[in-house]
Amino acid sequence: MSKPILPGATLGVLGSGQLGRMFAIAARRMGYRVHTFSPDRETPTGQVADKEVYSDYLDLDALRSFATEVDVITFEFENVAFEAAACAAEYVPVRPAGEVLHTAQHRLREKTFLSDAGFPTTPFERITTVEELRAASERLGLPAVLKTAGFGYDGKGQTVVRSTEALESAWRSLSTEEAVLEAFVDFECEVSVVAARGVDGAFAHFGVTENRHANHILDVSIADAAVPDVLYRRAEEITRGVLEALEVVGVLCVEYFVTREGELLINELAPRPHNSGHFTFDACVTSQFEQQVRAVCGLPLGSTERLRPSAMVNLLGDLWADGTPDWAAALRDPDVKLHLYGKREARPGRKMGHITAFGRDGEDAAARARAARDSLSR
Ligand code: AMP
Repeated sequence: MSKPILPGATLGVLGSGQLGRMFAIAARRMGYRVHTFSPDRETPTGQVADKEVYSDYLDLDALRSFATEVDVITFEFENVAFEAAACAAEYVPVRPAGEVLHTAQHRLREKTFLSDAGFPTTPFERITTVEELRAASERLGLPAVLKTAGFGYDGKGQTVVRSTEALESAWRSLSTEEAVLEAFVDFECEVSVVAARGVDGAFAHFGVTENRHANHILDVSIADAAVPDVLYRRAEEITRGVLEALEVVGVLCVEYFVTREGELLINELAPRPHNSGHFTFDACVTSQFEQQVRAVCGLPLGSTERLRPSAMVNLLGDLWADGTPDWAAALRDPDVKLHLYGKREARPGRKMGHITAFGRDGEDAAARARAARDSLSR
């Protein structure tokens, strides 16, 4: 097995958003240096990294010179072109490997991989014409969800089709050449499991988190969803299976629908730390970001044990509509932790930060997190 990459070494991150920022904070705390590469300047990651390189992901010359200055490369954003990962891999280890990115950045490839490997997914079909859409909608039934095959997140590039009359306009609205039609899942709840796999195949996960969305964007995550033991164990087993099948070295999140019958269906994969795992930063012995550092550096994984029951709420740009939110008001609850990502412009729907709160149990923590958020704009 390759030698571990030890503190003092330099870690490269492709992408420069909040996930890279929290990764960089975890890495620097452990004595690593961090370089970030993305097309943007003055980024959430760049503000806390040792070096911020800005260039297009497909500027392979810039990428090569970035790769020669770091000891390992990881991602905080999966929509980096596969060619970029492949190019970087000629110089340094890329973890998780570009193949994981290639699978997870494209819904159709991801769903095909999952269903071929026997993992439970929502029924789906590939769509390239409106005729195919019509035929698939008869097989899958309506309503159904039409999603672009590649490069989608936070409900972007998707539309719910409710009637045969709406098929044509739905297809046109996506303006894509390739899409996926998914059966609509009338789910009980949505949950996720953030997990890590080390260079040696060691596996650790952060339990089953319940996720509640608003306008397709994650709103609240409650650590330790109130799910039956059998479902918890099944989620653990599927998640481990996915990380092993993809040979992930790093962190990956599996998002699930829990059906009314208590079955788990995979909605999607994120081959990096995930918004639903932000609570781990404050509420676990090891955060998902430290775990990513450990995994990609070939170090032993840390304990995912909870310090206290917790929940997280996202802070979207909408909160800035009437001016700067009242941060002091939110911090009046001493069990509230505020995280802001340093983004200059607060646009509606943009993830600007999050609040983690502690409580007697998950629901109590969620109520406190929501109350803190509400107090921001009173
Ligand atoms: P996605 O970007 O695919 O994760 O979708 C964002 C959100 O849209 C999910 O978290 C669900 O709340 C909802 N959604 C996506 N696909 C489906 C589906 N097939 N059935 C019901 N709701 C869905």
